[in-house]
Amino acid sequence: MSLDAALAAKILKAVDDNFDRQMALTADLVRFASQRGAEGPCQDFVQGQMEQRGWVIDRFAMDEAAIGRHPGGSPFAPEHSKAPIVVGIHRPKQETGRSLILQSHVDVVPPGPASMWTRPAFEPHIEGDWFYGRGGADMKAGHAAMFAVFDALKTIGLQPASTVTVQSVVEEEATGNGALQCHLRGYRADAVLIPEPEEEKLIRANAGVLWFRVEVAGLPVHVSHAGSGQNAIEAAFGLIAALRGLEADWNAKKGEHALFADDPHPINLNIGKIEGGDWASSVPAWCSFDCRIAIYPGERPEAMQRAVEATIQAASRNDRFLSNNPPRVVWNGFTTEGYVLEPGSEAEATLGRAHEAATGKPLETMVTPAYLDTRVYALYDQVPALCYGPISENIHGFDERFSVASMRRVTRTMALFVAEWCGVEPI
Ligand code: ZN
Repeated sequence: MSLDAALAAKILKAVDDNFDRQMALTADLVRFASQRGAEGPCQDFVQGQMEQRGWVIDRFAMDEAAIGRHPGGSPFAPEHSKAPIVVGIHRPKQETGRSLILQSHVDVVPPGPASMWTRPAFEPHIEGDWFYGRGGADMKAGHAAMFAVFDALKTIGLQPASTVTVQSVVEEEATGNGALQCHLRGYRADAVLIPEPEEEKLIRANAGVLWFRVEVAGLPVHVSHAGSGQNAIEAAFGLIAALRGLEADWNAKKGEHALFADDPHPINLNIGKIEGGDWASSVPAWCSFDCRIAIYPGERPEAMQRAVEATIQAASRNDRFLSNNPPRVVWNGFTTEGYVLEPGSEAEATLGRAHEAATGKPLETMVTPAYLDTRVYALYDQVPALCYGPISENIHGFDERFSVASMRRVTRTMALFVAEWCGVEPI
């Protein structure tokens, strides 16, 4: 059953009227340089916003042991964030609607060299239709929109008529453990919406992700006797080439995964970071490189981890030094499975109606070969987990930006979705 047309029109107008305030809140969030491990002040700010709206607050740390026991848990590296997770719970006067979890992450990826940015990464600014700043698109715009939905309803004297749990998590960019911790904390709902920047489309499926570091040993000698040493950096090149072979093999299997068959290259290996050596005139005794690779939905991370280890072992066997000094593969982040959003749910139909009413166009779906926190709810709660958000460019790159007009449409959709899914009641 869709929303009453007059009510829908009132809600859409309320979103538009509140929109400047919503963009100001987005800018406030982007000013926090909430990179991994440094999300605390941003979470404090988020908690303050939740308190201002009268929500019940739950602030908690990650439970490393419990995460370690869960099949969806990723290992804790020393860099793992210790910042808290902050949850705000809206309780209605009368529970008449369906419950909902809204979730966003506040962690952002490093901005990279400042010289590559047109303006400083953490100084948000709008130019034309684009809102610039690291973490604006991914995903503080969506974060602010969760608040904006409540604010818009409030201006017309309404609030959701069911429990809405608003979860502000960390570690989305490295492990997915923040979302998993919310699950372990016991939060459940009839549906979940995560407003990641996804081109105003609904995510039908996403890939799992593995993170690992390969540590390569060498034999240090003076460069004048380089032939008797073993260059760890050059050995790493050979191992990277072997991993590229594995990547090609996995891409060649895309036909077995119907949702990914049309993607020209669904499995991407990224060599994200490399370190090694100590001195220009010494043969380097060590090299380590950090990698990320995707896996298809339905593949278990453990099996794919064994395939990565076997690839490194096989490549090492061809080398006399490496066969006696095998490189170490360290699992230091994402160890996550992909998911498929099963079509036909009432939550998806509701989002579709909301999107069409807000934008005038039918809701399209897409498949993404990247990690999304929705996997926790799809895989372990088995509830409709909807990932849907604004048009963006350059996330994880320079001059990250989202479309302001798109964000307005997405907020309009979210407000109509909440009103229909949860129902509304007078404040
Ligand atoms: Zn994100």
